[in-house]
Amino acid sequence: MWHDATGANNVAELALLRGGRPDRPLFDCDDGRTFTFTQFWDMAGRFAALFLKHGAKPGDRIAVQVDKSVEALGLFWACARSGLVYLPLNTAYTPAELAYFLGDADPFALIIAPAKRDKITTPAKVWTLDDVGAGSLCAESATLDSHIPAPQSDWNTLLAILYTSGTTGRSKGAMLSHGNLASNALALIEAWQFTARDRLIHALPVYHTHGLFVATNTVLLSGGQMLFRRKFDAEDVLRQMPRATCLMGVPTFYTRLLQHEGLTKEATAHMRLFVSGSAPLLAETHNDFRARTGHAILERYGMTETSMNTSNPYEGDRRAGTVGKPLPHVDLRITNPTNHKPLKSETDGMIELKGPNIFQGYWRNPQKTKEEFTGDGWFITGDLGRISKDGYLTISGRAKDLVISGGFNVYPKEVELLIDALPGVVESAVFGLPHPDFGEAVTAALVLEKGAMLTELQVISSVKPSLAAFKCPKRVLILPELPRNAMGKVQKAQLRQTYSSLYQV
Ligand code: AMP
Repeated sequence: MWHDATGANNVAELALLRGGRPDRPLFDCDDGRTFTFTQFWDMAGRFAALFLKHGAKPGDRIAVQVDKSVEALGLFWACARSGLVYLPLNTAYTPAELAYFLGDADPFALIIAPAKRDKITTPAKVWTLDDVGAGSLCAESATLDSHIPAPQSDWNTLLAILYTSGTTGRSKGAMLSHGNLASNALALIEAWQFTARDRLIHALPVYHTHGLFVATNTVLLSGGQMLFRRKFDAEDVLRQMPRATCLMGVPTFYTRLLQHEGLTKEATAHMRLFVSGSAPLLAETHNDFRARTGHAILERYGMTETSMNTSNPYEGDRRAGTVGKPLPHVDLRITNPTNHKPLKSETDGMIELKGPNIFQGYWRNPQKTKEEFTGDGWFITGDLGRISKDGYLTISGRAKDLVISGGFNVYPKEVELLIDALPGVVESAVFGLPHPDFGEAVTAALVLEKGAMLTELQVISSVKPSLAAFKCPKRVLILPELPRNAMGKVQKAQLRQTYSSLYQV
C-alpha cells in the first residue's frame, strides 16, 4: 500500500500537516470572499458533521451537482475528513442523466443547485448549494461543531467516485482512494516545484479531475494560494496574472488568451508556470504562446482513472506536441494492443500504466474493471501513443478513434499534424466513417482561419505526397468549428454520428 513519509494515515491528515497558513487566504474568490485554510477546514468539518448527524456511515457516497464554489471543494474535504465518498457530477447533466448516476451510485446525500431541487426525485437526503454558498447545506451546518471524530480510514480507503466523461455507452464510476489522490498531488508538487509561495489562477470546473484534484490538491498540499474564478474569462485571467504565479488550463484557455491583445511578455512577467492538459495542445498554440510571452506551456497527460501520468519537464526541454515523461513513481509502457507485449521505442501502441495513482476499479462493475487491466496488473488506458528514443511520450489518439481503412491502421494524429501545418488551417480532426469498399474511410474535418480560401481538393492534394494512399483523407469537411465538450476535447464520436452516411451510396 502507498504511504507517505510524514506518518499521516489519509489525505486529510496530510493536508493538515502540509496545508495553508492561517494568516492569509487559501482562496481569494471572484465574488469578493476569502477563506483561510482554517476557515475552509472548519467549513469542511461542519459539512461532515451535518452528514454524520443525519446518519451517514463510512463509505457512504455524497453526490454533488452544483455550480463551482469553494463550498463544492469543501464538500470533497468533508468526505476526506470523515471517511465518506465524494461523487461530483458535471453541471451539464440533465435530470434524466442525473437519475442514472443516482441509481448507479446509490448515494446517502445529494447536494444540488437550488434551481434544480424540484426537478429531481431521489431517496437520498437532499441539500441545496449555490455558487456563493447560499442554500440549505450551509444554513443547516452553520452552527455545528466542526471537530468531528477521526475516521477509520487509511490510504486504501475509497475517497471519490468520478464518472468518466465516456462518449460512447454509459459512463463508469472510477473509484479513487486517499492514496491515489495524495500520491499524485505529491508527484505533481515535486515535478512542478510547487511551494507555499505559489498563487494559482483556478478557472477550471471542479466536477472534473483537472480542477478538482490536479489544480486544487497540488496547491493545498504545498501550502500555496488560489485565485478562485467561477468561470474562465481571458480578460479576468490576464488581470490576475500580476499577482499570480501559475495557471492550469485546458488548451482552449490558451487559444482564448492568444486571441486577447493583452497577452504580452509584460502581462505574464510574474507567472512562473503555465500548464495544459485534458486535451491535446496544438504545437502551433505552444509556439505562438512562447513567441508572445516567452513562456513554454508545460503539457501533461492524465485521465480520470489515473490522475496525472506524464509531464513535460519543469527544467529542460518542453517539447510541443508531446506530453513528456512519466511522473515520479508512475510506470508506463507501450504495448501491442492485441497481446499486450511491450513494443520498442518509436512504435505506436497502447499506453499502459502502473503506479500508486491508478484507480481501484469501476464502481460496482468488476467485469469492466477486469477488462481494463492486464493479467499482471497494468491499466490499459485506451490511449495510443509512442515513446521517443529519449523518453518523451506522444499521444496518437484514443484506440476507439483509430481508423482501419482497407485493413490498415491509420493513426489520426499523423494525418492531423499534416493538415494542421497547411497555411490557413486552425485545427483538424481525422476520423473514420463507414465505407462500402474500405470498411472505414479516413475523413478529415477542419476549421479555417478567417478569410482563408482552402478547398477540399487543395487539402487532399497537399497532404497526399506525404501519406501512404490508405492514410489519405477521402473527404475533407470544412466546418465553422469542431464539436467539443466542456474540457475542450474534440468529440469525434459526434462527428462520426453526424456524418455516418457520407460514403453510403
Ligand atoms: P478525462 O478522463 O476526461 O480526463 O479524459 C482523459 C483523456 O483525455 C485521456 O485518456 C486522453 O485521451 C485525453 N488527454 C488528456 N490529456 C491529454 C493531452 N495532454 N494530450 C492529448 N490527450 C489528452
